[in-house]
Amino acid sequence: MITRDLDSFAEGSGSAAMPEGVIAVECKHALSRSKLPGLDYALNPYVGCSHDCLYCYAPFLMGRPREGWRTPIGARTNMPHLLDHELKNATGTIGIGTVTDPYQPAEAAVKLTRRCLEVLQRKGAMISIHTKSDLVLRDVDILKLLPRPEVGITLTTVDVALAELFEPFAPAPAARLDAIRSLVRAGIRTYVLIGPIIPTVTDSDVERLVSAISGTGVERAMLDRLRVRPGMLEYLAGLEGLHSTSGKGFLKRMSDQEYCRAAEDDLAKRLRRNGVSVERAF
Ligand code: SF4
Repeated sequence: MITRDLDSFAEGSGSAAMPEGVIAVECKHALSRSKLPGLDYALNPYVGCSHDCLYCYAPFLMGRPREGWRTPIGARTNMPHLLDHELKNATGTIGIGTVTDPYQPAEAAVKLTRRCLEVLQRKGAMISIHTKSDLVLRDVDILKLLPRPEVGITLTTVDVALAELFEPFAPAPAARLDAIRSLVRAGIRTYVLIGPIIPTVTDSDVERLVSAISGTGVERAMLDRLRVRPGMLEYLAGLEGLHSTSGKGFLKRMSDQEYCRAAEDDLAKRLRRNGVSVERAF
């Protein structure tokens, strides 16, 4: 379904009301079947993602040009309407943000994810959200009305400079830690996704990362390694930002499976020692 939607990335009605860099597009279906563990369906209100993380493999997975991933962003404005109909025949857990971030900057103005949540809440649907943004806190009022909603927040580092290098347009680590803390306090099932494990971080800052995570009160972490897709290394090699020392180290080690396995094991041990249970993602 997503492929069909992406193929038909045609401008829809309502673009005039969209913020700069965002266009309204029509989708044919709101839900697609998901093969991700624990999810039955996927829901992605946006096409593209302006967080523009360097390691993002979604465009390579979807066969989309990497350069056009950040802009323009497509807002599937007819999604809430379609969702209302499709939920009549859908049972199980719906993953929100399996391909693009549902709380990327456009969402602050467009409120498409929120409108989808309103529909899901009316139908009493089971949902699992994944994001890098503290904007999710805006919708805690709706989340509290849903049956056992789950929210995962990605945090790869607490080093601001590294975060700016790898996730240039995503909220800063401190904002994400605050979001995790607030979600836990609100009684929302919350986990932190440490993925991809950034090699240069796990060397020097792992203890700081683990301590910051355990300090939020979150009890569950998911770990993921970098997923290298065809074309990704070439894209990264051409980026100016990666010619810094940390960037070069990242490029060198990103394909080193042995190093990544050891770093993952080490991180898992430290998290468990701090009372955080660990799962491997996917
Ligand atoms: S937030 Fe996720 S979808 Fe968006 S650019 Fe980063 S990795 Fe890709």
